[in-house]
Amino acid sequence: MKTDFSQLRFNALAQSSQQISVPVSEPNRRSSLFASHVFNDYKMLQYLTKEAISAVRDAITSGSKIERKLADQVAEGMKTWAIEMGATHYTHWFQPLTGSTAEKHDAFFDIQDGQALEIFGGAQLVQQEPDASSFPSGGIRNTFEARGYTAWDPSSPAFVYGTTLCIPTIFVSYTGEALDNKAPLLRALNAVDEAATSVAKYFDKTVTKVNATLGWEQEYFLIDKSLASARIDITLTGRTLLGHTAAKGQQLEDHYFGVIPSRVIGFMSELEKECMVLGIPVKTRHNEVAPNQFELAPVFEEANLAVDHNLLLMDVMDKVADKHHLKVLFHEKPFAGINGSGKHNNWSLATDTGINLLSPGSTPMKNLQFLTFFINTIKAVDTYESLLRASIASASNDHRLGANEAPPAIFSIFIGKQLSAVLDELEGVSLGKLSPQEKTELKLNVVGKIPEILMDNTDRNRTSPFAFTGNKFEMRGVGSKTNCAKPMTVLNTAVAQQLQLFKKEVDRLIDQKGLKKDEAIFNVLREYIKSSKRIRFEGDGYSEAWEKEAAKRKLSNLKTTPEAVAVMSEKAHVTLFEQMGVLSSIELKARQEVEWEAYVMHTQIEGRVYEELVYSQILPSALSYTNVLLDNISKINLVMEQVTDLEESAQGQLFSEINLHVQGLKKSVDTMTQARKAANKLATTSERAHAYALEVKPMFSTIRIHADQLEKLMSDIHWPLLKYRELLQIR
Ligand code: ADP
Ligand code: MG
Repeated sequence: MKTDFSQLRFNALAQSSQQISVPVSEPNRRSSLFASHVFNDYKMLQYLTKEAISAVRDAITSGSKIERKLADQVAEGMKTWAIEMGATHYTHWFQPLTGSTAEKHDAFFDIQDGQALEIFGGAQLVQQEPDASSFPSGGIRNTFEARGYTAWDPSSPAFVYGTTLCIPTIFVSYTGEALDNKAPLLRALNAVDEAATSVAKYFDKTVTKVNATLGWEQEYFLIDKSLASARIDITLTGRTLLGHTAAKGQQLEDHYFGVIPSRVIGFMSELEKECMVLGIPVKTRHNEVAPNQFELAPVFEEANLAVDHNLLLMDVMDKVADKHHLKVLFHEKPFAGINGSGKHNNWSLATDTGINLLSPGSTPMKNLQFLTFFINTIKAVDTYESLLRASIASASNDHRLGANEAPPAIFSIFIGKQLSAVLDELEGVSLGKLSPQEKTELKLNVVGKIPEILMDNTDRNRTSPFAFTGNKFEMRGVGSKTNCAKPMTVLNTAVAQQLQLFKKEVDRLIDQKGLKKDEAIFNVLREYIKSSKRIRFEGDGYSEAWEKEAAKRKLSNLKTTPEAVAVMSEKAHVTLFEQMGVLSSIELKARQEVEWEAYVMHTQIEGRVYEELVYSQILPSALSYTNVLLDNISKINLVMEQVTDLEESAQGQLFSEINLHVQGLKKSVDTMTQARKAANKLATTSERAHAYALEVKPMFSTIRIHADQLEKLMSDIHWPLLKYRELLQIR
């Protein structure tokens, strides 16, 4: 006897119970698939002239322009290869500020002189004008009344995906302003390359290029597709807006690294094969802490490529999941009461001579190099902690940062006991020239010991938002949905500026104070260690005590996106981006607008979905169940001789409790809607965003309390929404 309201739920459950794992064939060796759909070096050798290859290589290493004639050659080679791979279309693949990727497909097919042909020339490869005027631009394109165009990024190889040749591109306005996430990332990577190369030359003159490296770790939830489609909150907002905690959540931690369910194994195998073909070097997969939560991580790559690969991966995941009748949830907090998802960004700097600059070496000089990059990174993070926080701010990530779940909204760095001891010793070095004895001591006892220290450095602190993990830093607050380009742009820009300042100061000490190079370096590092001390924290980052301590240290603690985004336009931040040639003040301001606007839109959608869920599903279901109760009570009264006291009977009590929550639910939704309407009337995006954060969003939890209580109190067959225990199970 299902009710009309719960029909959808029970149908979905019946459908999902029939799903079985989809078989996936495996090649003997996965490596045989690797990059088969990528126009990489090997394909270039096959399809391009030597001249064209070197033009592409120069463009990659030094950013030089590719002549029209050579671009035509490259396009011709790409086209031939792509058609052999089954491509019929090509697209400029770009990263608008919405956070995902966009593409507009054009067919190779064309008519020329009355003949049907496949055409793709240098002009089409290099530049395209998509009709993309409705992507968020923060007002830039209105101001300049210009449309955006996409331009080829030769440093990320083209690939064939399905039947389309995809060409990674930047998206800019005619006046040159960046309208995407890739253009500023490329500028930041260029800035950090220049700055880091000139510092690396102190230690090795043969270094000519430094690449930032990125290894992301993508966390996600998987749920059955029929179940996902039966809840409008999941389909429209990517998360459950309501839902009483399941009797069994993650408390037993039996999911973590546990046996992967067979339907999920099928999905993962196909996904990994698809990644291989597309050149995404995925390596590890495992269950995460929460039920239905998983993680996928690749071998790290050059940061721009790693960003492209992560975005492509998310798209591939959606498509492969669909084939397996599953849905991927990338939202940072799809379920209350169990862990959310993040995307740790492992970051380092690597030279073209093959050295990881954040990895200690075998000689004191190599270790001084390590210390230089290590301490400069700490200093950069200390200077721009609030900007880094802003770079990972979003409505969905607010459920993790600064909420009851880690990592906190406060930036701090964990480096471990041993490295802390090294920095403490370095801090005690004298200023100016060093005595021969001090030099020997430094070499033997401090710098010389670093490799041994790191060998057995098992020191790990899982609560730190920015942790040194042996040969890289791990930025942990990045949201699972976030485009890594955003935090990577800020981090690399900040480190670039810091390294520039460092170089200037070291050179000054050498030229003006007559210090030796290593003395000068020690001197400057010593000062940085002192002045960036507040950012270092080894304790429990989730504790309340740390929040208090961080406030004393004047570290920012920006709990909501609107607050975090506000710091983007602070004078120091405008200067940073301008000085490093990454974003003009106009571009930065536009991005701030886009972030506030996105926050408003996401929260607004959630508010509307709450309204719909409550008015069209929960309240009617509750009323129909209370009807049953009332019916029962009146029947009892008919058959019993004495009139039952409503308050005394179980039926009566149940009715009143439910009724109380029905009232509370209606009232809180109405209050929220009023607050929402009021917020919409405010003049600026900033005001609207702040009002949504302070007036609208807090009402969501009140609504939720009442709805979740109703779920608990009402009969199962009357309840319209799939329950947590039903959503969180896959065989
Ligand atoms: P976990 O954080 O899960 O314990 P690891 O510490 O082994 O795992 O980190 C693995 C991630 O770090 C992988 O994605 C890997 O590619 C990345 N990584 C390793 N070395 C570097 C590096 N030099 N630069 C950037 N990322 C790196
Ligand atoms: Mg990690």
